[in-house]
Amino acid sequence: MVLTAELKKDDTHGWYQFRAFEKQNIIAAFSTRRLHLNFSPDKPDSVVIEERKHFCQSVGVAFDSLVGLEQVHGANITRVARADRGRGGRSQDEAIRGTDAALTDSLDVVLSVRTADCAPLFFLDPGRGAIGMAHIGWRGAKAGLASKMVQAFRREFLTKPEDLIVAVGPAIRHCCYEVGAELKRVFKSFVTRRRGRYYFDLVSWILDRLRREGIRHEQVYDSGFCTVCLNDQFPSRRREGSIVSPMLSVLGRGCHAS
Ligand SMILES: [Zn+2]
Repeated sequence: MVLTAELKKDDTHGWYQFRAFEKQNIIAAFSTRRLHLNFSPDKPDSVVIEERKHFCQSVGVAFDSLVGLEQVHGANITRVARADRGRGGRSQDEAIRGTDAALTDSLDVVLSVRTADCAPLFFLDPGRGAIGMAHIGWRGAKAGLASKMVQAFRREFLTKPEDLIVAVGPAIRHCCYEVGAELKRVFKSFVTRRRGRYYFDLVSWILDRLRREGIRHEQVYDSGFCTVCLNDQFPSRRREGSIVSPMLSVLGRGCHAS
């Protein structure tokens, strides 16, 4: 159903990029665990800023245009503008508050989300030059964030859902995402039982919601990567605990040929 994404991999710099977006001169990229792009108390911000600059330069987006989100496991979506460029790029304190998703029709903005198991989602309406990103775990899924993203594109940019291109980065998958039995009542057939344990297929749930909003499955590109199965490449909060440094996903106009 969903296309397995064609990915460009840069082993030297430690990131992947979705080819489907590159064809539109939009960079949709995510880091591997080799890179340390997350602000944390253990490290001076200046070190993280330098690593972020290298990453942005290497994938081909403007570091100064980076916009970060607070990420509170909710379903708020914020429309950002050119004036927001740089918020959350140099310090987590300046990230956009109270939101797990953002969209914009300013291609001068580079959106970003941090994840370590939750799904990073990339959205592009090529005709209207609008982009969006969302960070979705089970709470965001339950709160309807996937559907709300499509509705927000329709409302803000008059996007036709069938025009949207969507990509899914590394996330914890049904092979590894053990959940409590209570989530079975919420996510129904997307939670399955194996050997007495319950497993949630978060990405399939998200894709099902997107299809219900009119996204065409041939326009969805899934990395297929599981953060637990591929823990040597990607961080997993489930596997490693809360000290894990999340990976960074970015989406914006390409600023040079890399
Ligand atoms: Zn897995």
